[in-house]
Amino acid sequence: MVRVHIGLGSNLDSPQRQLRDALQAMAGLPNTRLVETSSFYTSDSLLPGQPRYTNAVVALDTELVPLTLLDALQAIESEQGRERGERWGPRTLDLDIITYADRVIDEPRLKVPHYHLHARAFVLYPLAELVDEGFMLADGRSLRALLAACPFVGLEKL
Ligand code: ATP
Ligand code: MG
Ligand code: MG
Repeated sequence: MVRVHIGLGSNLDSPQRQLRDALQAMAGLPNTRLVETSSFYTSDSLLPGQPRYTNAVVALDTELVPLTLLDALQAIESEQGRERGERWGPRTLDLDIITYADRVIDEPRLKVPHYHLHARAFVLYPLAELVDEGFMLADGRSLRALLAACPFVGLEKL
């Protein structure tokens, strides 16, 4: 089993229900255990003119290898009506792999730690609820430093 963190986001079709359904689906993945879920937050969308997002991060313990986990998460997104249109377009569900154990992964389909983590308060603050204060990303960056550089702006804790 390895510890992984998944970022959840939704801004269509009852976002809080989308996140709850996704958490239940992830808890039901094979060889996977849901460890802990962060609070839910709302955040401004990355592109203007969209509804606000609801976000959370979940810690899972899993035996699924990274690309199998990605496949499983994308299947849950599709199951919950995710349609891939414009980049960063509104969506019922986005499930991103934020961390995968102490692995740095740089493959065409999968970059871990998530490439835009440092700029996303809606990932950093919920992640901070689930890890020790001295948490280090696999690439050597400290979560404390990333939080210090990413103000709690546009975010509301529910
Ligand atoms: P962003 O990646 O900026 O958060 P997004 O989540 O909306 O945008 P998606 O459409 O969900 O992007 O995913 C596009 C592709 O990103 C996926 O098909 C997947 O192969 C790839 N990808 C790369 N790294 C990751 C990761 N860490 N977690 C999830 N998908 C990833
Ligand atoms: Mg995303
Ligand atoms: Mg995604």
